[in-house]
Amino acid sequence: MSLRVAIAGRPNVGKSTLFNRLAGRRLALVHDAPGVTRDRREADAKLGDLHFTVIDTAGLDESPDGSLEARAQLHTETALQSADVILFMVDGRAGITPSDSHFASLVRKQHKPVLLLANKAEGRAGLDGAMEAYSLGLGDPVAVSAEHGDGMSDLYGFLRPHVEEASEASVDDEVVELSKDRPLRLAVIGRPNAGKSTLINRLIGDERLLTGPEAGITRDSISVDWSYNGQPVRLFDTAGMRKKARVKQKLEKLSVADGLRAVRFAEVVVLLIDAEIPFEKQDLQLADLVSQEGRAIVIGVNKWDMVENKGERLAELKEMTERLLPQLRGVELVTLSAKTGKGVNRLMPAALKVYEAWNIRVSTGHLNRWLEETVARHPPPAVRGRRIKLRYVTQAKSRPPTFVGFCQRADDMPASYTRYLMNSLREDFGIWGTPVRFTLRKGKNPYAEKS
Ligand code: GDP
Ligand code: GDP
Repeated sequence: MSLRVAIAGRPNVGKSTLFNRLAGRRLALVHDAPGVTRDRREADAKLGDLHFTVIDTAGLDESPDGSLEARAQLHTETALQSADVILFMVDGRAGITPSDSHFASLVRKQHKPVLLLANKAEGRAGLDGAMEAYSLGLGDPVAVSAEHGDGMSDLYGFLRPHVEEASEASVDDEVVELSKDRPLRLAVIGRPNAGKSTLINRLIGDERLLTGPEAGITRDSISVDWSYNGQPVRLFDTAGMRKKARVKQKLEKLSVADGLRAVRFAEVVVLLIDAEIPFEKQDLQLADLVSQEGRAIVIGVNKWDMVENKGERLAELKEMTERLLPQLRGVELVTLSAKTGKGVNRLMPAALKVYEAWNIRVSTGHLNRWLEETVARHPPPAVRGRRIKLRYVTQAKSRPPTFVGFCQRADDMPASYTRYLMNSLREDFGIWGTPVRFTLRKGKNPYAEKS
């Protein structure tokens, strides 16, 4: 998966010039008149040893109507949405204009990692503009010259971790045994202040991350390699990303967006919740994200040291989980205190266990014996006077476990029955802590004819 890097900014700041430098070909139009480059262009790009995709956005205006500028804005927004990271460019010599602020607001809405470039800064020109650029709220500006190639090492430093992460982020469908050569990809996600940084510190056993009562204080790097009982683990730290994006006031939205990135990266996700304020809206959103993306999950119930009536609380939490997260039925709750360390040692065994469930392969023979029994125990209903027949089930893939049932009248099958099958699959094969997919397809056993 190639990292997608969009270059955004008002017309004439030098986007196409940078695009050409990175793409190494003269693909985009460069012109002195503002707004000459209209269309979005993409190219394979290279910076040092980094390979990625660069997207040039159209120069655009604030024109609200159906004029060319408004259309260009639409192009830009689409380009920004399709990007993983954004380079936001201003003209360091010209200073910040209202148009820059307008584009900056489009960029901020994306909640993506942004590097702010103050261009045309060759020979120390543009330093004033660079200072002014702080006001855009997109972090520290970096002085560059797209034309002369100045500042490319800063750009490299920014892009590198993202490029590396993107090249690892494709989760394949094959069953993969964990080994010493293959790290388990683990992400810790959760609301700000749930205790993610404290937990990661505790897990990796040193104090490399800064933690504090103020949400969002932590270090820069995005993933940490570490080893648990000899098993390499690549730990994805969302708290670290939050600082990168530097959008303090939008923490709520941001942590869900961060969560998505982390979840995509991960095989196993630890959703960390606060025992005192469990299952807030954001916790549920994040859990849902994990389920939609089909990753294995463990719920860490943190700050357990603060809970007085532990037995009662745990029962409550279990009830809430069943009720609020039916799609993750049976997910394990690991109560712990990241602060004192108590219970933290139960987290990794739980993560490795759900990893196995996530990878499970059930043979077709096994599944069909199971189907016979399961249908006999509780037959499908009759719809319009005829009993629906379900004859055959196979596992289409794992990661997450995905099953397909074949049924002549798939459309008539009530959802409640499919749910029954899914829950039976979970129970009978012990598939906990991962989403399970079950779909019905119209038709007979597709393999019957062959045999
Ligand atoms: P775009 O509209 O943002 O794509 O901007 P262009 O790439 O077309 O550049 C607009 C103008 O700025 C052109 O005349 C470029 O030659 C000039 N330009 C681009 N980068 C630099 C730079 O680093 N230094 C200087 N002095 N001029 C630049
Ligand atoms: P993050 O925003 O999710 O990374 O949260 P932090 O790790 O920065 O923790 C937020 C606050 O919760 C800090 O003040 C921590 O000291 C506190 N905290 C974290 N874990 C625990 C815990 O297990 N028990 C208690 N009582 N406080 C904790």
